[in-house]
Amino acid sequence: MNTTLHLPITKLRGVGPRLKEELKLLGIITIDDLFAYYPYRYENYELRDLANVQDQEQVTIMGKVQSEPLLNYYGKKKSRLTVRVLSGSYLITVILFNRPYLKRSLRLGQTVTVTGKWDRNRATLTSSDFHTGQPDQEARWAPVYSVRAGVSVKKIRSLINQAFTCFPDYIEENLPDELLSTYKLIGKKQAVRTIHTPKDQTQLHQARRRLVYEEFLNYQLKLQAYKRIRRASSKGIRISADQESVQRFISNLPFALTQAQKRVVSEILTDMNSDSPMNRLLQGDVGSGKTVIAAIALYAAVSAGYQGALMAPTEILAQQHAENLDELFRPFRISVGLLTGSVRGTKRKILLDQLLRGHIQILIGTHALIQPEVEFKQLGLVVTDEQHRFGVGQRGALRLKGKEPDVLYMTATPIPRTLALSVFGDMDVSTIDELPGGRKKIKTYWVQENVIDRIINFMKKELDRGRQAYVICPLIEESEQLDVQNALDVHAQLSQALPGYKVALMHGKLTPDEKDQVMDSFKRRQVHVLVSTTVVEVGVNVPNVSLMVIYDADRFGLSQLHQLRGRVGRGSDQAYCILLADAKSETSREKMRMMTETTDGFKLSGYDLKLRGPGDFFGKKQSGLPTFKLADMIHDYRTLAAARDDAVRLVQNPHFWRDDRYAGLREPLAESGLTQLLHLD
Ligand code: ADP
Ligand code: MG
Repeated sequence: MNTTLHLPITKLRGVGPRLKEELKLLGIITIDDLFAYYPYRYENYELRDLANVQDQEQVTIMGKVQSEPLLNYYGKKKSRLTVRVLSGSYLITVILFNRPYLKRSLRLGQTVTVTGKWDRNRATLTSSDFHTGQPDQEARWAPVYSVRAGVSVKKIRSLINQAFTCFPDYIEENLPDELLSTYKLIGKKQAVRTIHTPKDQTQLHQARRRLVYEEFLNYQLKLQAYKRIRRASSKGIRISADQESVQRFISNLPFALTQAQKRVVSEILTDMNSDSPMNRLLQGDVGSGKTVIAAIALYAAVSAGYQGALMAPTEILAQQHAENLDELFRPFRISVGLLTGSVRGTKRKILLDQLLRGHIQILIGTHALIQPEVEFKQLGLVVTDEQHRFGVGQRGALRLKGKEPDVLYMTATPIPRTLALSVFGDMDVSTIDELPGGRKKIKTYWVQENVIDRIINFMKKELDRGRQAYVICPLIEESEQLDVQNALDVHAQLSQALPGYKVALMHGKLTPDEKDQVMDSFKRRQVHVLVSTTVVEVGVNVPNVSLMVIYDADRFGLSQLHQLRGRVGRGSDQAYCILLADAKSETSREKMRMMTETTDGFKLSGYDLKLRGPGDFFGKKQSGLPTFKLADMIHDYRTLAAARDDAVRLVQNPHFWRDDRYAGLREPLAESGLTQLLHLD
């Protein structure tokens, strides 16, 4: 084994207390972390001729300074430096943000090498990398790392170089020979070195292939280990709900279930009524009525004498679920509790006590539910809403709270079945493929220019009819670099343009209490227009809202747009969605077109798989599928499937848990506490 395991980053020259803290914020604490801090892209410094460069493409050019540089300051510490540069036959404007000191080095006739994004129409290059003189021959492919204010990309590059020099034998192989040879993978050391300093595409491809496989394998081993924990612990509980009682609950609902809802209810109740623990993914498009399915399953658990839990990704959503379910359950004398981060002190203590005594039968909350002090008397069913927002660890933790509770995961992100199996382990999948009857298709419009006056008129009409509106903006405050509308401005503008109506503002920086208040007045129609950042994205249900306006819509991914649009059209009235977007690139335009053409989430996902701008529909953060450093679940799907099969095989092999050659693969499992849970340590 590695004897120098986990050397602290301070072993490197130049890493003092301050830099150490900055690096820690990036998750870099040890040398291992540094090596595993892979670039998210590469700057290609091969010189190009602007004649061959597409609009909005990243490019490196060489040229000569043709004008005196112009420096402007704005905001607190923000500056913008512009200079005219002649490159080939192109006279262009180079823009440099927040690098005022470069002004001195820009003399007329000076040769410069500039890397940046090319705006063809304006003939401008917004520079991300800049130096005077000829291009640096060494660094044709320079790694770019995601960094924060206190650490530059250059710093990371130099630390990594230093680490390779000082600790050449630090990186040890963690895959057994058999796997390396089966897939013809290069060794770990070589792969890590290449990923940080590739010489060419072919090398990079080999390195990436090796590291992607490793990432997937580690992930799949974790899933399989969880599965073993589930199996190893006691058998599942059989929740035999009284059929008649459940039917009574269903007929007491304010509407009749759709056929699809009926089908998934019966799938779920059958699972619950069996000895093995339920492990089911319920997918259904936004607005398909998943909440009520959760309610029925929870009712069944409670009527059989168990407690139930419902976990939601945001406080707003947890609050909303608590209100709705309380209303549904009150006639049946079932007690519902709400636990979020903002329930504190005595209130929290009482709640937890009642939970342990079984006085609270259904607990709803955010990830506050998985904290150790939350103990149930007899947990029978766990439902997680918008499941894709939670990580494997969080899911697992809630499961461990019960002896062997049934688990239902709900998601609106449609995932192809094969992928779902690989990502979520061995789940069963139920699908609601039908919207409640009487819904009108949401009319979606894409407007390119700023036609805000017309939108306001339209909004007025909807408000006059007693309806409400959401207006979504990407940012809260103004930002110089991003030419996007911001919530504060829009809020001010609309307040003025809509006398007699109340316009409120909602964003992530409000405290949970403030959010509650805003949401509450919106629900009670004391607020008519809600200007918001994306905090209302997931799950929020206010059926009276008929209009959704999304500013800078092209900045959002397809799944997010679909989720946002899904906030309207939740009743039987006509609803509208207006997408405001310049959509400069072809991909953006395609995205807007898809949104106007269909409201079918499954179709949109199919579209997107074809279109496949990476990190778009299944986009990194937005969709919340597990994030990998290098791997991409769509592009690398085959590797994912292979890694899954290997993981299944490995955990069944007794040698895997003992032999040295597998130690490198066991290590991450031990670090997440999984081997302890399996009583293997
Ligand atoms: P999602 O699947 O996006 O979570 P919700 O559960 O929030 O959707 O349901 C959306 C809306 O549809 C809610 O107002 C809900 O009361 C309503 N609804 C659910 N099922 C039906 C049904 N069978 N008939 C009519 N309305 C329904
Ligand atoms: Mg929902």
